[in-house]
Amino acid sequence: MPRVILMGPPGAGKGTQGEVLASEWQVPKIAPGDIFRAEISQSTELGLKVKSYSDAGRLVPDAVVIEVIESRLKQEDAHKGWILDGFPRTVAQAEALDVLLSEIAQPYDSVINLDVPEHILIDRLKSRAIDQGRADDNEDIIKNRLEEYNAKTRPLLEFYGSKVKQIDGTPSMSEVTETIKKLLA
Ligand code: ADP
Repeated sequence: MPRVILMGPPGAGKGTQGEVLASEWQVPKIAPGDIFRAEISQSTELGLKVKSYSDAGRLVPDAVVIEVIESRLKQEDAHKGWILDGFPRTVAQAEALDVLLSEIAQPYDSVINLDVPEHILIDRLKSRAIDQGRADDNEDIIKNRLEEYNAKTRPLLEFYGSKVKQIDGTPSMSEVTETIKKLLA
């Protein structure tokens, strides 16, 4: 019953790794970014609320993200485990997650940080802008996302401290997957 928190800067490969591991372990990958993109494309009330932040490469307010993740983690399919990709991204989110997980008696078992140097992240995000047409991968916005990461998300490494397992995210996707699997085996 894996319950894994996958961390790392934008472009580190969390989404891809999360996808592969979730299908292998048959647990949901829960990613606020995926949820927001779906809501935005359907122009729901939540989509409209988060669009301006997401388009600008800024973090969506904690209260909004926390509510979304709380209700997602309480759904039936999450009882058998999960991979959190892109949550928590602030210390306030991490604190809220601790409270929630103890309420639902589902402690996490690993925190993984995918480590990739900034110049490689920028190259990856720029090519994703071309391949996938993601509006938030344009150059100015990439700068904002990295700024948000450094200011608000990087401090989580200290929050989780020795619980964090560092993984080099620079090799190929499949090599990184193998490293994660070995580490969690
Ligand atoms: P990436 O990891 O490549 O930056 P995501 O798909 O995880 O992209 O997130 C896309 C956008 O969704 C973020 O730039 C942000 O606006 C919003 N978002 C995602 N996760 C969070 C979070 N935990 N807290 C606040 N905003 C978030």
